[in-house]
Amino acid sequence: MTETRLRFPPSPTGYLHIGGARTALYNWLYAKKTGGKLILRIEDTDAERSTQESIQGILDGMKWLGIDWDEGPYFQTEFESDHEAASKKLLDTGKAYKCFCTKEELDVKREAAQKNKTQYGYDGTCRSLSAEEVAEKEAAGLPFVVRFKVPDQDGEIGYDDKVLGYIKAQYREIEDFVIVRSTGKPLYLLCNVVDDIRDRISHIIRGSDHMTNTIRQVLLYNALDAPVPVFAHMPLTLDTKKAKISKRKHGEIVAVQFYEEKGFIPWALSNFLVLLGWSPGNDTEFFTQDELIEAFSLERINKTNSIFNYQKGNAKFFTDPKAISFNEHYLRTMPIEDIAVMVKPFLEKEDLWDAAYEGDKKEWFLSTLDLTRDRFQMLSDFGDRGRAYFSDEFTVEQKPLKKNVLKHEGLKEWLPMLADRFEALADYNLETTEQTARDLATELDIKPGVIINGMRTVVTGQLAGPSMFDILMAIGQERVVSRLRNVAKLYEV
Ligand code: GLU
Repeated sequence: MTETRLRFPPSPTGYLHIGGARTALYNWLYAKKTGGKLILRIEDTDAERSTQESIQGILDGMKWLGIDWDEGPYFQTEFESDHEAASKKLLDTGKAYKCFCTKEELDVKREAAQKNKTQYGYDGTCRSLSAEEVAEKEAAGLPFVVRFKVPDQDGEIGYDDKVLGYIKAQYREIEDFVIVRSTGKPLYLLCNVVDDIRDRISHIIRGSDHMTNTIRQVLLYNALDAPVPVFAHMPLTLDTKKAKISKRKHGEIVAVQFYEEKGFIPWALSNFLVLLGWSPGNDTEFFTQDELIEAFSLERINKTNSIFNYQKGNAKFFTDPKAISFNEHYLRTMPIEDIAVMVKPFLEKEDLWDAAYEGDKKEWFLSTLDLTRDRFQMLSDFGDRGRAYFSDEFTVEQKPLKKNVLKHEGLKEWLPMLADRFEALADYNLETTEQTARDLATELDIKPGVIINGMRTVVTGQLAGPSMFDILMAIGQERVVSRLRNVAKLYEV
């Protein structure tokens, strides 16, 4: 069997969209599954809209997601001579022709069709110009586009879509479409095919919004005497109101970079995205990379549109709550050493990183991450909600401050008392600290909860978290004593 060759050809006109990332993932998975290659090709021929920043963003986004490619990045602009050669070949072989119709002429015909409520399609006026007529018009300097000459025949043209089955159109329904603009620039439809032929692409997995292109591109493959690749069109990703997920409507959550900045684990996002539009045929949700490569198949790509359940959920921002729950899952179950590597940049950003976390304090660091991760959703939470573990400067959240501290005037004295007793402990451990706290509550005739919740708020700034006595161990005797002793400060505002 010949090698499978897939490609991801983004247009660098913006950020890496999560829909684009899903397309890249499907192509990547299929390349891996079949032992084939993934080619990254930047379709940068739209000079006005393509930017270097966008190219960088796409490359960074793919690297962050772990989608590696085997060839490229190639840049479409490097192959302009191929595109021109192909249009010349089509002209020379009579499979395309120069069309001198002006915009105004075409507009009149389009309007007439609209009035008559008939479907507009180019009527082929220039199709039958003689070589002399063409030469005359060219000599007169008239601008022209190049149109593909759709075979003048009855019957249908089609292709076998791996997802949607046989897709066809009547030759008579397809107009002679433009392949080269009047500026001499070949259009996407042609360039894309020429590049795919040159790159020997065997399979094309892309969004179903490209289906109208595909049928015309099949004609181009035939006209260029090239084998038609296997096509698989994936469903679009829509929100619950059936609108396409877009920056204008949904904001920055459409960009892969947003998830990186928020503290997503790349594989959590990938795993979530793959399941938007593909299913394993059972209810397995979490896959390792190898498992997903093994399970992936084009046939199981969904035929119906995928729903991105855009809503607030239990995170601070809107996105699909399922994406958040995937992140929680990986955050809580991945090897802690892997989490540590991913947390590092977030702590660095908050100025909380200590090189000793990779040296002397490594054990403490790993156990602290392990202790706290069960309640966290994002990698960024460690430097945010978890700040009190890494710094003495942290904010005490309003809710626990009011509920667990300010409401109990007595804590102003009780917590410093507890601080003295903790300081005096020769052996500061889980049991001795718990016993000390409970004894104090009994002596003072107050509920242990008042002491424990007050202590949690003062020591961590948070309403909830891991077991209080585990926290006391993680934060350590000295820092706990000092925080408890300074409780009065919290009453000042
Ligand atoms: N540059 C096109 C896009 O980003 C490529 C489409 C394709 O052929 O896959 O939509």
